[in-house]
Amino acid sequence: MRKNIVAGNWKMNKTLQEGIALAKELNEVLANEKPNCDVIICTPFIHLASVAGLVDAAKIGVGAENCADKESGAYTGEVSAAMVASTGAKYVILGHSERRAYYGETAEILKEKVKLALANGLTPIFCIGEVLEEREAGKQNEVVYSQLAGSLYDLSAEDFSKIILAYEPVWAIGTGKTATAEQAQEIHAYIRKTIEDRYGKEVAENTSILYGGSCKASNAKELFANPDVDGGLIGGASLKAADFKGIIDAFN
Ligand code: PEP
Repeated sequence: MRKNIVAGNWKMNKTLQEGIALAKELNEVLANEKPNCDVIICTPFIHLASVAGLVDAAKIGVGAENCADKESGAYTGEVSAAMVASTGAKYVILGHSERRAYYGETAEILKEKVKLALANGLTPIFCIGEVLEEREAGKQNEVVYSQLAGSLYDLSAEDFSKIILAYEPVWAIGTGKTATAEQAQEIHAYIRKTIEDRYGKEVAENTSILYGGSCKASNAKELFANPDVDGGLIGGASLKAADFKGIIDAFN
């Protein structure tokens, strides 16, 4: 059975000290709880080792927000999948729309990143989603299909089964504008159907597909109630333990 997951994406927020404080607070908030979903926090690279060392790994998974498309070597400023894994992190967000838009990450580059993440035992949280003009032109299905096919559909079924997907309409990220529950369900069902066409029903049924884009405690329950929405990738609302906990509680 696929998992319900609430994953935070801290983006480029929090100094090391602030990040450690937030991770500690979340750890304490969840100490006496049994969340009905997997909880993951994805942090900047510099926080990973400290955060992975302090959270209760049975309750909170830790992930990076990116990794390099090269294994190792003369790539100044880059951080490899092996380095991420060596911190104790288990996950890595790949293909976030901000990486695609601001850092030129193409389907081919992301294909390499996914391969390296998997080879180093990391679980990719792979993001897909259309921009506003594509939504307005009714092209959202085409866009997400080409993002999936371009970076993931060459994987073996075994490797694809290790991936978590996050559908994040770019027009909803950080804008306060959320996809309606109906819009989310419709495209999540489409995504699952394309996985079924490529890898069969069992793999499709077992793939967790998260929704991302201005998700907060007040709308999470309605979004997560959809049969094909298996949780959320949370940006802004993951920066305060109480807000993030409110979203985790949507599964109670
Ligand atoms: C994100 O960037 O992954 C995201 C979903 O951001 P926000 O929740 O702030 O819209």
